[in-house]
Amino acid sequence: PKARVAVVGGGYGGATAAKYIRMLDPSIEVVLIEPNEAFVSCPISNMVLGGFKTMADITTPYTALERTHGVKIVRDTATAVDVEKKQVRLSRGDPVSFDRVILSPGIDFMWEALPAMGGADAQNAVLHAWKAGPQTAQLRRQLEAMPDGGVYVLSMPEAPYRCPPGPYERVCQVAAYFKASKPRSKVLLLDANQDVTSKGPLFKKAWAELYKDIIEYRPNSKAVDVDVRGSVVKLEFGDVKGNVLNVLPPMKAGNVAAPFITVNRRWCEVDWLTYESKAAKNVHILGDSLQIAPAMPKSATMANGHGKVCAAAVVALINNQAPNPSPTLINTCYSMVSGTQSVHVASVHKYDEKDRTMKAVPGAGGVSAAMNEAEGAYTMNWAANIWADTLG
Ligand code: FAD
Repeated sequence: PKARVAVVGGGYGGATAAKYIRMLDPSIEVVLIEPNEAFVSCPISNMVLGGFKTMADITTPYTALERTHGVKIVRDTATAVDVEKKQVRLSRGDPVSFDRVILSPGIDFMWEALPAMGGADAQNAVLHAWKAGPQTAQLRRQLEAMPDGGVYVLSMPEAPYRCPPGPYERVCQVAAYFKASKPRSKVLLLDANQDVTSKGPLFKKAWAELYKDIIEYRPNSKAVDVDVRGSVVKLEFGDVKGNVLNVLPPMKAGNVAAPFITVNRRWCEVDWLTYESKAAKNVHILGDSLQIAPAMPKSATMANGHGKVCAAAVVALINNQAPNPSPTLINTCYSMVSGTQSVHVASVHKYDEKDRTMKAVPGAGGVSAAMNEAEGAYTMNWAANIWADTLG
């Protein structure tokens, strides 16, 4: 092969980059390092909690990447990137050499913000389910086992975190389940932020109209610890007890990207034309690990877009060509507020040559006029399309 690109993480950013490099230039070898057997989608995973979808509905195999696109998949965890030797070290197998490496490891959690949550026992009892997979199914089982009349508590951190509207969608889904199957039960959302950070008026309308006596929203409610045995979320002011606790710690770039973190000990900065790290040459970073430009959310649509722009730039660089000087990204985030109705927010982001960053295009995008079933159908189409685009 002309060159080898190693990709760490087969999620929205990494799988897209791997596929598009192979489509743009099949003479480049692409090795994708990912420990999971299959891709499990965070988008739509809240509907598994609501009981409207199954784990199978949000799972896609990696077979098309391998067979159709010739991506080599190594089922292993990357433990480190050796920038000098140009190698990715693995937890089990031999190191993978590269000419360029692309990291899209998503997020990891800042457990130190919740001291009692540091150990494995605590983390197995109080779930985040903020990486789709076993915890999604486990949290659904906790909700099923909860007695009618119980309280589900979701604690969410200050922005920025993965998927701005995700927690607000999640409380809708859990409330829809309670409304249908455990009508005396309550949902309590403890938001560390001052107000709903995404699609606020739309979510507040959904809560008032669909889940009036079920969802209670408490802003300015930052968790500082958890009493796991007592089933209590400890806030700066006061404690909150629940039957099922679902705690989202503050988040940072995925661990393998830690050496390339440049902002607040949390996020990585890149050149937005190539996604090359500002901290290391030949290392490209995508998706939720990035310090996002203003108004760009940590979303699957964004990570998929990063993957395509980065793939084109990496192919150009390997072929001694200049990357596209003015990339554009789009974002849409749908949120299912019930089993059938949805709302969205959309935006367009263009590279600004002067400030060398991505800027939202004024007047492009917007939010839904109202929740409805047509948007619910669009949501399912969005999911089917992005899964096909990323993995098909
Ligand atoms: P991921 O997609 O998480 O991929 C990371 C991959 O890297 C994983 O497969 C992981 O196994 C792998 N990995 C990590 N570390 C290593 C390592 N050391 N070695 C090898 N592999 C590694 N976005 C939307 O646009 N629309 C939505 O409706 C939406 N809903 C959401 C709902 C929920 C409940 C959540 C939690 C998120 C939602 N998101 C949504 C956000 C979206 O899931 C993320 O923004 C997106 O997954 C980011 O892509 P990524 O490539 O950065 O990370």
